[in-house]
Amino acid sequence: MNPIDKARFFYSQNYRKIAGWVLEPGKKIILGDQENQLCRFCGKRAPDTSFRLSAHALPESLGNKSLFSAYECDECNALFGNGIENDFGNWSKPMRTFARIRGKNGILPFRHGDSKAAPCQFEDDPLVAVDLHTREIMLQLRRDAHAPLAVLKAFVKMGLSVLPDSEMPNFAQAVAWIRKRDHLDGFAFPVIHTFAPGLMPNDRISVLLIRRKDGSSAAAYMFFILAYGNEMFQVMLPSPGRDLAPNAISSAESLAPYPFPPPSARFDAPRFQFLDLSGQQLVHGETVSMPMDSDKKEKTFARPALFAGPAAQSAFASDN
Ligand SMILES: [Zn+2]
Repeated sequence: MNPIDKARFFYSQNYRKIAGWVLEPGKKIILGDQENQLCRFCGKRAPDTSFRLSAHALPESLGNKSLFSAYECDECNALFGNGIENDFGNWSKPMRTFARIRGKNGILPFRHGDSKAAPCQFEDDPLVAVDLHTREIMLQLRRDAHAPLAVLKAFVKMGLSVLPDSEMPNFAQAVAWIRKRDHLDGFAFPVIHTFAPGLMPNDRISVLLIRRKDGSSAAAYMFFILAYGNEMFQVMLPSPGRDLAPNAISSAESLAPYPFPPPSARFDAPRFQFLDLSGQQLVHGETVSMPMDSDKKEKTFARPALFAGPAAQSAFASDN
């Protein structure tokens, strides 16, 4: 069995979609009860806290103008906004830059003599390198300062923001963990990252929650899956009471990303890797390489949304 079929089999056997959204500009969704607000991150209601601001369920920096949460009070909004979401914004800046560059001007490679890799300066400080053998353009972009573990917490916070109320009792420890200002201890697990080369719509975000089926022995209880642009992130939402292994995602059974609709043969296959976001110290000047194939540009231009489209949402049985 090829890896995608294997992953498809694994997830369809063991997981069920419990919620999902495809976010598009102009479509506003508010999660939770706006008349009777209870903050799921600190457990407070008015007048002990306030709910004046509309809390984004996913950071605005990702382009989210659609999904809001009535579950988050102003104090928690400020706590996360000045803390882990700031780290996330710094860490994810290259991806957002990448999407903007594509959206605006496309990529014009600069080739220099016969050297194997020809770097040139580009907008907003990234470098472009062209491998003349593989004809692949690599964008080398710099992340701003961030603590990796804070980035991991920001992913988990997004997942906790979209969970159904009935699931919250299973995630009390995760809530306490993301609220901690220091990043000294607690959970650490890899994030599954999938990158699909080619031009993608940059104004769509796909969000999915999948939960282990009753009777399954898969280790991780709940995954939050976020896809936008060229990337998909699959994040375990840690639940020590429900997970069947302490570091559930590193167990062999979970070594594949949640499957997406198979890419057309015309396009390069998506690549996946595990992101290690366990570092507690501030990281400065980290660079990230993103591939872009110039020779296939005109073919990839019309590419449908691989991750962020409705097909990714309807690929599996659902509870709703
Ligand atoms: Zn709160």
